[in-house]
Amino acid sequence: MPGRLAIDGGKPIRDTFLPYGKQSISDEDIKLVVEVLRSDWITTGPVLSEFEKKFAEHAGARYAVAVSSGTAALHLSMLAAGLKKGDEVITTPLSFVATANSVVFTGAIPRFCDVQPHYHNIDPAKITSLISDRTRAIVPVDFAGHPCDLREIREICDSEDLIMVQDACHSVSARYDGKRMGAHADMACFSFHPVKNMTTGEGGVVTTNDDRIYETLLSLRNHGINKDSTKRFGKSGGWYYEMKMLGYNYRMTDIQAALGLGQLSRLDDFHAKRLKIVAEYDRAIAEIDGLEIPRVKEDCEHGWHLYTILIDTDKFNAGRDGFYSALRAENIGVNIHYIPIHYHPFYRELLGDLKGSYPVAEDTFSRILTIPLFHDMKRQDIEDTVNALKKVADQYRR
Ligand SMILES: *Cc1c(COP(=O)(O)O)cnc(C)c1O
Repeated sequence: MPGRLAIDGGKPIRDTFLPYGKQSISDEDIKLVVEVLRSDWITTGPVLSEFEKKFAEHAGARYAVAVSSGTAALHLSMLAAGLKKGDEVITTPLSFVATANSVVFTGAIPRFCDVQPHYHNIDPAKITSLISDRTRAIVPVDFAGHPCDLREIREICDSEDLIMVQDACHSVSARYDGKRMGAHADMACFSFHPVKNMTTGEGGVVTTNDDRIYETLLSLRNHGINKDSTKRFGKSGGWYYEMKMLGYNYRMTDIQAALGLGQLSRLDDFHAKRLKIVAEYDRAIAEIDGLEIPRVKEDCEHGWHLYTILIDTDKFNAGRDGFYSALRAENIGVNIHYIPIHYHPFYRELLGDLKGSYPVAEDTFSRILTIPLFHDMKRQDIEDTVNALKKVADQYRR
């Protein structure tokens, strides 16, 4: 007997709310942060340099530039790509708004490209027809942590002379052709917001293998000030610096970088824990008729930022929103990633009403649901989530 749904006045599956994502901070993480607080440097200093070095190694890139957020990472990447007013950038409509916003910050215009069914990443087969003589860059997103089709997108960028900026905010733990996400695009952007796979409170990184891009990113994060000018002018003018381009204060602090070092050393462990949870979800949810579990392509190791299911709404008397409300009432913190970017009022104003233009993304949005996934989930949390899915699906099944 599944029992009456909590939303209809029944007893919820659990008494306390289970969030969809949550950070894990260890005593060692705290120790590292406190050490910085007791030192002479608290903002951009030696710990930041160490974090950047270790992160670049992890990501399989030559350089990493740490910044104040994933959004700042994206913004600086778009500037380093040389985007200007009127330029066009091809990206996915199925992402967090920050992906497209970072394009708009530069005066360039995002041109959305539909996604692939089941994988939710930009569809390379649909990119070429969107390229115009104003197109400068392609910005794919590794949805939920599943790498986008990096080889195909790289080929398009190379043959059309476009810059490839990968939004890897979900995929710090992923691999493509055995390589991490820093190894493929001209720049890859990562986020360390607390719901992501590792955290610095707020924070982000851009990785690159290009010397010139690296220098530009360093300058842009620090007001556009040329870092070498003090060296160049040496003793005669230790006070001297030059601002050569319009930059920002997007610096990360050593306090955050210390937390980042702690988290980075635990990332493999985080990923192993997530993989176990995913295996349990896959096994249990595959048995619930009408719910589709995530798929993983052969050349990919999924980074498992999010675990999303697709609801076959024809099989139920409730739509995705019905599932969302019923599961929330059971105290399961389900969520929705993402409202297609072109649905937002700002983008309707900027680009006109594009509803209907991206049928796969729009269909995905109408049926997708994110269920809880974080490293420290307990066995009971996993069982509660699966039981709540069963309870709600059984109640609503036609
Ligand atoms: C989280 C996220 C961002 C923004 O990162 P912040 O660190 O929150 O600024 C950008 N793109 C995607 C896909 C994200 O998930």
